[in-house]
Amino acid sequence: MKDTFDAIIIGGGHNGQILGGYLTKAGLETLVLERRMEPGGGLCTEEVTIPGFWHNLHAYFLRWLPDLPFYKDLELERYGIKVKMPPVQTVVPFSDGRCLVFHMDEGKTIKNISYFSRKDAQTYKDLLGRFRAINEKIITPEGYSPPLPSQEKKALLEKSELGREYLAISKKSPLELAKEFFESEQMRAMVIFVVTTRMFLADEPGLGYHFIQALNGSVRGSFCMGGSHYLAHGTCKFLEAHGGRLWEASHVREIIVEGGRATGVILDDGRRIHARRLVVSSVDIPQTFLELVGEDKLEPHIVQRAKNFKFSRFVLFSAHLALNEPLHYTSTPFNPDINAGFNYNIGLESTEDFLGHVREINEGIPPKKPGMQCAVPTLHDPTQAPPGKHAAFLWQFAPYHLRDGGPQAWDRIKAEYMEVCLERWRQYAPNLNTSNIIAKYAFSPLDVERKLINMCYGDHCVGRASQDQMLENRPFPGLKPYRTPIEGLYLCGSGSHPFGNITGAPGYNAANVICEDLELKKWWNPPDLRELWSKLQ
Ligand SMILES: Cc1cc2nc3c(=O)[nH]c(=O)nc-3n(C[C@H](O)[C@H](O)[C@H](O)COP(=O)(O)OP(=O)(O)OC[C@H]3O[C@@H](n4cnc5c(N)ncnc54)[C@H](O)[C@@H]3O)c2cc1C
Repeated sequence: MKDTFDAIIIGGGHNGQILGGYLTKAGLETLVLERRMEPGGGLCTEEVTIPGFWHNLHAYFLRWLPDLPFYKDLELERYGIKVKMPPVQTVVPFSDGRCLVFHMDEGKTIKNISYFSRKDAQTYKDLLGRFRAINEKIITPEGYSPPLPSQEKKALLEKSELGREYLAISKKSPLELAKEFFESEQMRAMVIFVVTTRMFLADEPGLGYHFIQALNGSVRGSFCMGGSHYLAHGTCKFLEAHGGRLWEASHVREIIVEGGRATGVILDDGRRIHARRLVVSSVDIPQTFLELVGEDKLEPHIVQRAKNFKFSRFVLFSAHLALNEPLHYTSTPFNPDINAGFNYNIGLESTEDFLGHVREINEGIPPKKPGMQCAVPTLHDPTQAPPGKHAAFLWQFAPYHLRDGGPQAWDRIKAEYMEVCLERWRQYAPNLNTSNIIAKYAFSPLDVERKLINMCYGDHCVGRASQDQMLENRPFPGLKPYRTPIEGLYLCGSGSHPFGNITGAPGYNAANVICEDLELKKWWNPPDLRELWSKLQ
């Protein structure tokens, strides 16, 4: 078996595969190593209830996918990917029988908000216009570029009105902004829901820019036809079509460091694979530095920073369902569109509901009155279940460490907690009853970590989104973006800027940096932040 490549990438999730695609096409002989039998990481679709029902165990909502740079660069449509954006995007039913429905069609959304507050409807309309430019010219390009040093970023943005508005908003927390801009609790609940489901804590100071993204993103959700795992097939096909390789069942145990330089890896079975030019890790920060490189090969301050790397306390408990029929909501008379939603906020009706969750989760208690993100993917893609049947899921924010019994206690309580969540959903959709549910499957935060070992403590964004761990501080201060103190060793996973989720941005940005360091021609057009921001009005 071949044992030498130009580039070795550890981890075959979407970031590892995307980076592999860019490097292969740039001319490097590239190998991606994945420890599981099936690559894709968080792009994982399986028959966990009964055969014929396909469940997206991790990512399902693929935000702005067709607009993301790697989608076009890696020619994913040519490699069989079909993406759909449902017209009825984000929905919140309320206990009083009303509901708030966000459409892709802006006019319909504004009308629906006006049923709760005319002022909020006008504010939403104004903000969409103002924020669209901030999103397109500042936030999105920043996600798809290595972050600039904060002082340089501030100096560039302070020169324009748009930049100054962005900087002012960014200082606040999304929760503060939701309260400042909107008067109705229903609209605030909607915005907080959208922020938190992207794993940004709504009450975290300094993350106000996620409020801007949330407002735009709440109506740009998409998914991959057939199931999220298909997307991993597409990125893998691109890699292999250009001569790259992906080996499954290849757990990397060690990164070989010789004379201060990464020169290859050792697999669990003892095989050594050599890297002529570089090794890249897409896995979590503690594993990369403390286990794969080893503390003895690093300066003490780097070891300490890797040990201090923080994971989120808010992680996901899920339940997957095989259903006989679609769900009908009590709010149907108020707005029948509710039955065709893509992304449902079930039970998070106010800012107080959100703050109650924060308190319980901080104490290690799964919220007693769940407020969940739910979906019925088969409403939009019947191929994910047998004809006429439906696959559905719920995600509830929960702690990994349970106050009573620690993480292991999830195995004992998960079936019971699934019933608590289903009962809450049933209050809004009464036909979620025993005759409708054919089979169910609970998937706890502990199960998340067991399936993907890099999602430490169940953190599916592979590192907390706090101000001290974002932008130039991700993974930790003192590292140049995507580079490490070991020559020839790079990072490309969610522990690097910008963050987790299926954005492909860490892989895309790592490709940018690696091609610069190796003086390879970039065959794509990454944004140039300095140029873009110096021209802002
Ligand atoms: C319940 C749940 C719901 C989610 N929903 C969404 C959603 O709707 N939308 C969204 O955008 N995101 C969602 N996410 C988050 C998303 O799945 C992750 O943020 C994303 O998968 C991270 O991508 P990655 O490529 O950085 O890492 P991963 O996808 O985790 O890939 C890393 C890969 O590395 C492999 N690996 C680890 N260690 C080694 C080793 N030593 N050797 C070899 N291979 C190794 C792992 O097996 C894995 O395949 C969800 C996650 C969960 C758990």
